[in-house]
Amino acid sequence: MLMQQEDLGSTSPALSGTGLDSPDVTEAWARIRGRLREEIGEIEYRTWMRQMTLAAIEGEEAVVQVPSRFLRDWLRSQYGDRLRALWQAENLGVRRVDIRVAPAPAPDGEAVPRAVPEAARPAEARAADARNADPRNDWAAPLDPRFTFDSFVVGKPNEFAYACARRVAEKPASPGFNPLFLYGGVGLGKTHLMHSIAWALREPGLDRSVAYMSAEKFMYRFIAALRSQSTMEFKESLRSVDVLMIDDLQFLIGKDNTQEEFFHTFNALVDAGKQIVVSADKSPSDLSGLEDRLRTRLGCGMVADIHATTYELRISILEAKAQAAGIPVPARVLEYLAHKITSNVRELEGALNRLIAHSGLFGRPVTLESCQEVLHDILRAHDRRVTIEEIQKRVAEHYNMRLADMSSARRARNVARPRQVAMYLAKQLTSRSLPEIGRKFGNRDHTTVMHAVAKVQELMQQDAGFAEDVELLRRMLET
Ligand code: ADP
Ligand code: MG
Repeated sequence: MLMQQEDLGSTSPALSGTGLDSPDVTEAWARIRGRLREEIGEIEYRTWMRQMTLAAIEGEEAVVQVPSRFLRDWLRSQYGDRLRALWQAENLGVRRVDIRVAPAPAPDGEAVPRAVPEAARPAEARAADARNADPRNDWAAPLDPRFTFDSFVVGKPNEFAYACARRVAEKPASPGFNPLFLYGGVGLGKTHLMHSIAWALREPGLDRSVAYMSAEKFMYRFIAALRSQSTMEFKESLRSVDVLMIDDLQFLIGKDNTQEEFFHTFNALVDAGKQIVVSADKSPSDLSGLEDRLRTRLGCGMVADIHATTYELRISILEAKAQAAGIPVPARVLEYLAHKITSNVRELEGALNRLIAHSGLFGRPVTLESCQEVLHDILRAHDRRVTIEEIQKRVAEHYNMRLADMSSARRARNVARPRQVAMYLAKQLTSRSLPEIGRKFGNRDHTTVMHAVAKVQELMQQDAGFAEDVELLRRMLET
């Protein structure tokens, strides 16, 4: 097993004789692909990564093959660092990843990997390597060079968490901020903020030892130490750091021994005046399944949540990312994406990346039409399907009328008008046909629906207050 081969505390040695037939390597590669799939989402994964194969492990280098130059270049520029980080985290001695174009099969049917010259790597990537290579952090996970404070876009939903993260990065272990507990839903920037803190604290010259790892990794380390009877070394190496950062703590739910160990490490470090930063998907009090004493201690410092993104934040993030990519993307397209993809930043980023890649591939500018075409599967998945029933319910509530009157025969103005508004919204927000809509409103004729749509449009022109009302309803139903 991989765990027994780990050599805690020393620089991780390249495993001699590790080949593609080694189960460690196959498992690691499967895990890495699983991780990537989780991180970038199913659709992106299928677009970019499904065709990757692991061709060889050559010394400290993993050779990954893809079928085209375009895929190679794209993967290198967008995911090269991530692939390398994931390989390094596996601790099999792999320090570099080379992405190559798979050669055409040789006559005898055997593919012979051919070396492709490494593109000169940017200085910042090399500097990042150097910092990741700090031997004291050998057992910690490497940091993603893209995740820095500079690239984090701040808005209402995350400004508090951001401010706390900044504060900890500037003055670790200050009273009131230890531990720092960051929480929020998936893809909202927790890992990004944690890496940003770690990068800042690891600034060369500060000589601080900062250990960042996922709770999952923490557990594997702990189990490996138990197996190889090196728990003392494990404890010592953990307790010798200046800053300990554990990502995705919810993973420890139900893992009682690991929780216990974490609790003791936590106490030892805090007592010694060291900073702890933890992230999770829920607040300490909502993390049921964690031991009470641990939850209590976690909530003792600063607890900061990252809220779901707002439209404004999504726009800012898209603008920043489009600018960083150096590809002009019209404001209309950004607005469209920010409107359609509301789930999380990771999905938003994935959609934009795909747009940019297609534009590069075909040498065409990004337009609203190309966006709808290229992203049509993603957009469909995010289509919030508002039902006619929902519309009727909301509109009835808004106008204070009985839901039953949406389908009743009553024609009094205070009933008929809201009913028309609901029909209008049903036409605007669903893909139902006029007869279908009519049927849902007490079997009315499609001409009645047509008339309602025209009437509401007319009234909206004439009466600004009424128009505002309808717009408000529409926005409520859309988000
Ligand atoms: P989490 O750990 O909360 O699941 P991540 O930190 O992995 O989320 O963020 C997912 C992706 O979205 C990353 O690529 C990250 O850089 C990006 N991201 C999230 N929030 C922001 C933000 N405020 N500004 C820029 N990028 C962001
Ligand atoms: Mg994360």
